[in-house]
Amino acid sequence: MENTNSRKLGLEVIKEVPWGTHLCFFYDSIDDYFDIIKPYIKTGLENNEFCSWIIPKALEKEKAFEILQTAIPNLDCYQRKRQIEILQYSEFYLNKERFDRDAVIANWGDKLDKALSAGFDGLRAEGDLSWVGMNRWRLVKDYEFEIGNIIFNKKFLVICSYPLKKIGASEIIDIIENHQFALIRRNEKWIYAKSFVDMMDKLLEIQNHIRRENIELIKQEALKNTLFNVSSHELKTPLTSIKGYTQMLIKEQFGIINAQQKEILNVLKRNTEHLDSIINNYLSLVQLQAGTMKFMVEKIPLKSLIENTMDIMYPLADSKKIKIDVRLADGLPPLGIDVDKIKQVLINIIGNAIKFSPEGTSININVKKKNEYILFEIQDFGLGIPKNEHGKIFDMFFQSESIRNKNIKGSGLGLSISKAIVEAHGGRIWVDSKIGKGSKFSFTLPIKPVKAPKINLIKSLH
Ligand code: ADP
Repeated sequence: MENTNSRKLGLEVIKEVPWGTHLCFFYDSIDDYFDIIKPYIKTGLENNEFCSWIIPKALEKEKAFEILQTAIPNLDCYQRKRQIEILQYSEFYLNKERFDRDAVIANWGDKLDKALSAGFDGLRAEGDLSWVGMNRWRLVKDYEFEIGNIIFNKKFLVICSYPLKKIGASEIIDIIENHQFALIRRNEKWIYAKSFVDMMDKLLEIQNHIRRENIELIKQEALKNTLFNVSSHELKTPLTSIKGYTQMLIKEQFGIINAQQKEILNVLKRNTEHLDSIINNYLSLVQLQAGTMKFMVEKIPLKSLIENTMDIMYPLADSKKIKIDVRLADGLPPLGIDVDKIKQVLINIIGNAIKFSPEGTSININVKKKNEYILFEIQDFGLGIPKNEHGKIFDMFFQSESIRNKNIKGSGLGLSISKAIVEAHGGRIWVDSKIGKGSKFSFTLPIKPVKAPKINLIKSLH
């Protein structure tokens, strides 16, 4: 089968190249220049490519057309078919005498789009850079570097040509470095061609190496996910019974207990809750990465949601003598949500507020209606978060520099998972915080529930 990625170049030294190749060539005389241009453009036209030709500064368009026509007698047919355009450097590269790299690159992009939508196989370009003087050298060098990156993987071939007489040795090295393939044509002879074959060999070697490493990584990832899934579920089942029985013991359902026993049971309860929230976050991480997170939406009065959550959070706050003040506005409607997941969000945020606050401080929780949403605000008076980190704390595995050496434990998962869950419900989450003063985490949930909460992986998992 024909390889559609490979294009005939029309040159005797290099027969074929893949789409996305960026070549340069240096010519001595204008005859040397046309020795390359004629077969290059002819081959492009014959192979249904759109040809864009930016001619040398010293040439007139009519003259350029005439010379090219000696190799392509039916050039005017191609021109009528709008398969070729011939441009002066000033029309293409300059805008009011200014060379604007991004505008030129965008222009190439437009040309490629137009060529493809007009039914051509791709874009074959030739840009002569004889107009570039020393004052613009750096700009053009950056542009050449960028072009190589941009055309990679696109149906785009480009040759950039330079007159040997106008450039020095160091510019030649700059140019060769920025192209995949360099040619020199002098006195009607090929002098030099940077070895494409050598480079392809090297590239293939690197590609194979990367492929092998990728397979290894995928295997490890699959194993890790399986282990996480199995162990998380196996840990959760016994944990649920420990939690249940501890709760029943505390409530004296199996008989009266003394104060010391009660205190021990409360420690046990706190620790199992903590373990439970760590396992929940790890399970969510695996599900988010695998795209298998499922939501079970049910209607719940906000009062029950908050009470259920605070049941877990109060003992944790008590252990640090932190007072939590909860204010729930009157008359709030019930919410249609995945209760366990939103509870997980609240536990993560309130847990952080407790974790990052000194003993004896307080935390305020406010739940109220705001337009079509319920707004949850959790305000602490703890360590606070530096402004430059506000945008990062919702990233997976992010932990603030300022807490790293404070011996505060954490995984850097809670907030990123909370963000994914809130956004899946159609809400938003954000933070206001000042270092040393405290933090206020806020999130919204729509009163009218989204039909099927869905994880937006790209947006939620950075
Ligand atoms: P973890 O708490 O497990 O480290 P999170 O994703 O919950 O992970 O939080 C990420 C980081 O954001 C924390 O490590 C901490 O640096 C910062 N952070 C979160 N909540 C607070 C808070 N209430 N006060 C100060 N810093 C916080």
